[in-house]
Amino acid sequence: MAERPDGPAAEPRFVADAMLGRLARWLRLLGWDVLYDPSLDDRELARLAAREDRVLLSRDRGLLARRIVRRGLLVRDDDVGLQLAQVLGELGLRPDPARAWTRCSVCNTLTEEVPKQSVEGRVPAYTFATHDRFRRCPGCGRVYWAGTHRALACADLVRWLGGGTPPGCDGEGPQKVP
Ligand SMILES: [Zn+2]
Repeated sequence: MAERPDGPAAEPRFVADAMLGRLARWLRLLGWDVLYDPSLDDRELARLAAREDRVLLSRDRGLLARRIVRRGLLVRDDDVGLQLAQVLGELGLRPDPARAWTRCSVCNTLTEEVPKQSVEGRVPAYTFATHDRFRRCPGCGRVYWAGTHRALACADLVRWLGGGTPPGCDGEGPQKVP
């Protein structure tokens, strides 16, 4: 893995091909920077990966064989759980508790913690009543909280990755009343 100015421990960034939209969203939820734009063709994907020193995730051996691609990973399976386990396993990555659940899964922008009052009327009333901490995506405006969706996502992560409680999965649950 190429060293960067901030050292070899720097997390890789990714670009995912058009087949891997779900994988891109899961990697983002766990904190990784993943570009995903199904309108890009193979040539554009390869150039983007090279230009920004991103790991190109693809189901397409031909794309990864392009000479310009220095860092690529052939995703073997159709199942997103197996895909996620493969990527983390082959690159030796572990989700960072400080970065998990801080990135918008829809548009890849880092989310920001926002005051509870600022999301009133923007989230369901029950959610507003039972949660204190909210994050908002400055890119697309989506609001995130550690509710039912996260609990379901955590259950998937445990099933796919094993190895104990994933980061951010032991905190505020959907039933917690502040
Ligand atoms: Zn967003």
